Parts: sequence; structure tokens; C-alpha cells
Amino acid sequence: MDYDVIIGFEIHAELKTATKLFCDCEVTYGAPQNTHICPLCTGQPGSLPVLNKKAVEFCVRAGLAMNCSINKYSLFARKNYFYPDLPKGYQISQYELPLCENGYIIINGDDGEAYPVGIKRIHLEEDAGKLVHSSQSISSSEYSLADYNRSGIPLIEIVTDHTTNPMRSVKEARNYLEKIRQILRYIEVSDCTIEKGQFRCDVNISLKKKGSPSYGNRAEIKNMTSFKFISEALEYEIKRQSKLLKEGKKIEQETRLYNEEKKITLPMRSKEDAPDYRYFPDPDLIELELEKEFINEIRKTNPVLPDELLNLITEKYKVSQEDAYLLTRNKAVANFFTECAPHSDDNKKLARWIINNLLKHLEENSLTIESVKIKPKDFASLINLIVKGEVTDRVGKTVLEEMIASGKSPEVIIDAKGLKPIEDTKELNKFVDDAFSAHPEVVEQIQSGETKAINVLIGQVMRSSKGKANANKLRELILERIEKE
Ligand SMILES: [Zn+2]
Repeated sequence: MDYDVIIGFEIHAELKTATKLFCDCEVTYGAPQNTHICPLCTGQPGSLPVLNKKAVEFCVRAGLAMNCSINKYSLFARKNYFYPDLPKGYQISQYELPLCENGYIIINGDDGEAYPVGIKRIHLEEDAGKLVHSSQSISSSEYSLADYNRSGIPLIEIVTDHTTNPMRSVKEARNYLEKIRQILRYIEVSDCTIEKGQFRCDVNISLKKKGSPSYGNRAEIKNMTSFKFISEALEYEIKRQSKLLKEGKKIEQETRLYNEEKKITLPMRSKEDAPDYRYFPDPDLIELELEKEFINEIRKTNPVLPDELLNLITEKYKVSQEDAYLLTRNKAVANFFTECAPHSDDNKKLARWIINNLLKHLEENSLTIESVKIKPKDFASLINLIVKGEVTDRVGKTVLEEMIASGKSPEVIIDAKGLKPIEDTKELNKFVDDAFSAHPEVVEQIQSGETKAINVLIGQVMRSSKGKANANKLRELILERIEKE
């Protein structure tokens, strides 16, 4: 391709405070319409906003986690526009002086190198209400109704700095989104559940001639919620814009909407600029001044971040980068690993078993690691039994399922279910006898040097012993027998 791609985001994440940003209405999801509203969040004259301190703390927490400088003074501004979901006629946001500025997060680049993506600002603002249409879409609806339960829920807006290492491809854009979401979940300021509308973004993309210092006009795609649709919309825009540029045409600076069915973006309106919103400081809210101790306290209590946990797991516990990455995608899973590791004889195997068996089981049964009864020490014991060959992989999986359901230790389950491995030579030899007489051709293969064929015999014994034969001992017995034959 002859063009460089530049991608940026404005991400909106709903904060999980107990109450709204400027009133004490409860923050809820799925409650009956208009049951969590008051004069303030429905824009009644005479009501005055009172700032939620927790929301300020969460915004600062996000800023610190994303390496921003925290402004001692910040300002709330009115962003004026009309829409039925915004009864005041303006949204309280931050404009000139946001809470956090000039940060960065580290993401993986397409070249395999990690690099910092600039964050221009993170500011605090309130959410609007929601329109409920009588039919599928606004255009096909006879009428729409307004639900103000969401009106006034605190949001943070995270804006990328397109001049400092912006994303250069669709894949990097995706890495960025996932990293932001992961950080917000780690520091527990937002659940970022896409289905609940807690993580939404506007994405902007422009192309410029390879190596050129000047930026092209940007197209902004509004109100994206699904990672999949964001990727598709960006793929489409890259094709659309490079075609226009090749034909010598101009890219319009405009806002576009993604059509999920047709997989194309369509112009919505020419991009509005800041002057259109007539921003001005909100006269009902005084300048916000943060005390040093307030910021320091948040800094001290900011929880461990994904990258720190990833480094710990690779360096201290010697787990591969790939597995550590999979473990740290979810903080509770990563914590489970670090709680198991001190009891484990083989951390690599421990990591693999969490990824391949535990997580798979949880996913298939729509469970979370927090909701199951399994104890880290017991999980490590199970892995140790497998490492010692006292439990086969197959039996291990059965035991694991029982552990997840009952919270019992592997030893108790193995005893109760009669899953103790068969160690007795005499008993094992009975199975070996049967395997040898059932597969004389395999025995010949092994004798003629095809040592791998031994797995056929081991497999046969495992099947007939229901996976209970001690694998290490079984191998020895079979090898001994081959030599004698
Ligand atoms: Zn309210």
C-alpha cells in the first residue's frame, strides 16, 4: 500500500459508581424505565449539580494507570446541543481543563515490538438518556420514548493523541481497545460490558502518502460498540479512502455511520467542530481543585496493572510470554495463577492447565472463576499429581470438573470415586497382556525400531483401565516386555 494509516479513538467508559455524577440517583442497568431519575438528571429548572467525589477518584485512577499528568485545577464545561435524550440542552463535560492529560499506554505493534500510544486527555462527563424506538430503528419507528435512567451516569472519555504514535493498522487499533478495556477492568473503575453500553467509542481514521509529514482529512465513525464492527468499519474506510486518493480526489472531513448489514460506512454529517457546541465553563460548578494527598492516596492504592502482572508471571514463574498473556487477560484468572504457583511443582504445566482445561470448562459453562469453589492450593495439588504421573490427563479432567462443582480437594475426590491410579505391577501386567495379544503387529513395529508405536499399546491399556494406569510405570512395563519378546 502507498499510504500510511492513522487511527485514533475517543472511548467512553461508564464508571461503576453507586450514584450518578451530579445527583444521588442510583446507577442501574435494566431497571424499569424512568425509575432512577430526579429533577436534576431530567433537567428541571432550579436544580443544582453536586459533584460525585468517587467519580473524580475513578477518573484520576484511570489517568494514573495510563501515565497521565493529573491537573490540580480542572473545569467543567457545558457542551450545548439539542437532542431529546438530553433534557437540559447541554451535557456537562470538561473542555479547556480536563482532569488528566498527556499519558500513554503500551500496546503490541504489528512488527512484534511493544510501543507507547499517546493519550491526549481523559476527562469526566455525564451520560445522556436513551431513546427507545417503537420499532427496530429510528427511521422505521412510529414514535420513540425517552428513558432517563442513564441520564447523568458518569463517563470518562479517553482521547488518543494522533500526533504521538497513533495506531497504524486495524490490528493495532484492536490491541489498543483491548488494552484500554483491560486496564479499566484491572483498576475496577468500569466493567466495560459492551452489551450494557458501558464501553463505546468514536473512531477516526485518515490516510497520508507514505512518509509524508502532513495529515490527511479524518473520517470519524460514531457510536461504535462492537470490536468486530470497529475492525470491519476500519477495513472498509482504508479501502474507500485509498481509492479516492488514488483517483486524486479529496477526503471529506466528516462524521460517518457504520451499516452493519452492508458492511459499509455512510456519511452522516460534516464533522462538527468545537465552536458548534458553544462550550463555556458551567456557572453552577466551581473550578475543581485536587489536593495533593487526594492524588497521592489514589496513587498508593492503584491496583496492579496488566503489564506488571504479565512481567511477574514470565519473570518469577517462568511462564512463556504467550501463556502469560492469556492468563492476564482477566485479572481474576491471573490472580488465581499467582495463588496456585507457590504450591506448584511445574508452573508451565500449571499455566497450560488453567488455559486449556479450567478456562475452557468455565467458558463452556458460562461460569466465572470467581463463582466456582475451586481452591488454588487444591488446583496446584492436582497438577502436581499429574506431573508425578499419579493421575493421568484423562482422570485429571474428571477430577477437575468435580473440584469445580464441589470445591473438594483432588485427593478426596480420587478416593471417593475410586480413581486411584493402578500402581500394582501384577494388575498392570494383566492389561499389558491383553494389549500385546490384541496388537501383535504393533509389537513387531516396535521391535523393528518404530518406537513411537508404543503409544498405541499405552493408549489401549489406558482405554481398558479407564485412564487409571500409572502412565510412567506402564511405559516401563511395556518396554521391559518388548525386550523379552
Ligand atoms: Zn438524578
